Formats: sequence, C-alpha cells, structure tokens
Amino acid sequence: MSFEKALAKVIADADAVNEDDLVLLLGAASEERKLLYDQADILRGMWMGSEVHLRGVIEFSSCCSLNCLYCGLRADNKKLKRYRMIPGEIISAARIAAEMGLKTIVLQSGQDPYYTKEMLFEIIAALKEGLDVAVTLSLGVRSPKDLRAFREAGADRYLLKFETSDPGLFEKLRPGTNLRDRLECLCLLKETGFQVASGNIIGLPGQTLTTLARDILLLRELDVVMAGVGPFVPHPDTPLGRDARGDLEKTLNALAVTRLLLPYFHLPATTALDAVHPRGRRLALQCGANVVMPNVTPGHYREHYSIYPNKPGRGEDPRTTVKETRAMISEMGRIEGKGYGHAPDRSYRPRRNLTRPGVAVARYLKKAGDLNECGGTE
Ligand code: SAH
Ligand code: SF4
Repeated sequence: MSFEKALAKVIADADAVNEDDLVLLLGAASEERKLLYDQADILRGMWMGSEVHLRGVIEFSSCCSLNCLYCGLRADNKKLKRYRMIPGEIISAARIAAEMGLKTIVLQSGQDPYYTKEMLFEIIAALKEGLDVAVTLSLGVRSPKDLRAFREAGADRYLLKFETSDPGLFEKLRPGTNLRDRLECLCLLKETGFQVASGNIIGLPGQTLTTLARDILLLRELDVVMAGVGPFVPHPDTPLGRDARGDLEKTLNALAVTRLLLPYFHLPATTALDAVHPRGRRLALQCGANVVMPNVTPGHYREHYSIYPNKPGRGEDPRTTVKETRAMISEMGRIEGKGYGHAPDRSYRPRRNLTRPGVAVARYLKKAGDLNECGGTE
C-alpha cells in the first residue's frame, strides 16, 4: 500500500481504513502533505462550512495535584507561581467574553480539588443564568457525583484529552493515573449528557506513528464531538524539558488525517501550534480545523498558567486577544460562527459521496492509478 492508495481508500470509504493506512497518511512527506491538507480542507468545507467557532478559555487555577511529566503546572514544579481566581473573578471574566459576542466559555484549570462541587455548581449556574453562552469544562477527572452536579448546573460540554492511546506511555507520563480511568471518565461524561471532547498530544517522547494512528481510531471509537490535537511543547521546568518539541508538519498531518477520518466534528486550531510556529493556527485552519480557542483569562494571570512555555498573548487584555483572533479569521476569508457551535447534529448523515476528492486531488490520484480501484469520483 502506498500513500496514494491509502488516501484514495479514505476518500472512498473512511470506515474501511485501518491502522496501517493511517500510518501511511500520517507519514505524508513534502508533496503528499499538500494533497492531504487540500483534501482535509475540502472535507471541512463540505461538512462544517466556512464558519470558525470561537471558544473563550478562562484558565482559572494554575494549581494541580497531579504530576504529568510534560506539563508546567505539575505539582512538583516549585518554580511556578500558583493562583486561583475567586468565583466573582471567573464570572466577570466570562461576562467580558460574552459581551464581546463569544458564545462558548471554557473553564479550564489544573486538577484542583480546592474548587468543590458546590463552588463550581454556583459558577456554572451563574454563567448559564446570566449570560447567553454554552459552557465547556476542562477540569481533569472529577467524581461521578461532581460531574452530575455540573451537568445539572447547566454545563454543556466537557473537554478531557486522553493524551495518548498507549496505556504504558500514559502511565509513564501521568504518574499515579491510568488510561483506563481516563477512558471510563470519558464514557461517564457521555452518559451524564455532556457533549464530550477529547484529544491527544503530538510528538510526546516514546510516541510513534502507530501510536498516533491508534489515537485517531480511539477518537472515532469514542465518537467525540471535538478533538484537541496539539503539538508537545517542552517546558524547561519539567522532566521532559530537554526533549524535542512536537513537529509542526507531524501535527498538521495528524490534524488533516483526523479530519479525513472524522469529517463531521469540531477540530480546533490549538493555541500550542502558535507556540511552535508563528502561523501555526492559520496553517491548521487550512488543513481541517474549524475552531479557535482565544484566551480570555485576565492578562495578569496568563504567564502563571504555564502549561508550556512561549504561550501566545502573555499579559494581553482579552479584548485584544479576541480582536486579533477575529482579524485572523477574516484575513483567511472565513467567517465567525454566530451560534453556540454545539455538537454537529448526528441525525444528519450526508450522502457518502460528500467525501469525494477535490479536483486536484482526484487528478493526482487518477494519475497514480489508484482512484478507480477505490471507486472515488471527480
Ligand atoms: N488539568 C486538566 C486540564 C488542563 S491541562 C487536564 O489535564 O485535563 C490541558 C491540556 O494541556 C492537557 O490536556 C494537555 O493535552 C495539554 N498540555 C499540557 N502540557 C502540555 C505541553 N507541554 N505541551 C502541549 N500540551 C500540553
Ligand atoms: Fe495537571 Fe492537567 Fe497539567 Fe496534568 S496536564 S499536570 S492534570 S494541569
């Protein structure tokens, strides 16, 4: 099987694709990458349209009880200045974002038990009652009771990345935790009625293209509504500080392949991409991404939420961040989504031939003699 054959296969029938096909696609080099990105961009346009949904992220606590080897918020990082925003501050940051027209607020933090079920209930309820927004939580693993309470308070979505589908690597990188519990939490979130988002990190030490292929198959199996696919950015004050960072091309390949396999779901251009390349998010929006998550945390807290170094927008006012994000979207000829950007309606199943290739891709594949074999059409 060649790259061309694997691409033709995924175009003809994404459900038929296996791990080996994905490895070939993920390893796309030079001119193959252009084809891959074009096809992902076409599928994004066909299934998700030209809207880019904005989700405003409030990083409300840099305290974390876990010790993930890759993350600057890990408990053992004594160099980090920790902060916790009080409920009133969180609500007022959300109000500023809502006044700017953002329709989703993401509440994100380290895994921080200081915020009890009751506190979070009050914050979520205040956002849902006082502002016209969807609420996404990204708090790490919480108890079933807590999750039910958050849903009752009105939270709409939950973002919990599985980070890697390799159970051994997961345990090594996230000491004291395991993949099984993370996946169980994802299932529980679904049962509780959340729109569930997950994702992985590209370029973790010890990860291979096969791991990434399995990550994408796992995303499909979990049937998530969104996936964060971002590069690993080594943080100097962590045990992985001297490891190589996630490669831009490998991340874009992973984004594009994820879009090919899961055409009808949300795929953010992650902020971490801008930490590895000045135009990282723009490139992602051209190879399958349809969501951007501007930081709306008050400027003075931002440098302390140091998950990875060189995070864009340090010290910046949220209004500036949102303005710049909007400028990026319109410069790219895209439009800002005006709705909440909820999960795509799963009862809507476009016809199979909606995955047909773009003319340029089809021409290339025909020349390579692969397209007819797999039944694609121009
Ligand atoms: N504590 C919560 C949410 C905050 S961390 C949790 O762990 O789920 C949010 C995301 O940051 C993580 O899911 C992880 O994918 C990402 N992350 C952490 N350290 C990173 C690094 N060094 N490079 C890239 N992404 C990182
Ligand atoms: Fe804590 Fe999340 Fe960072 Fe792990 S990835 S150390 S859980 S903030």
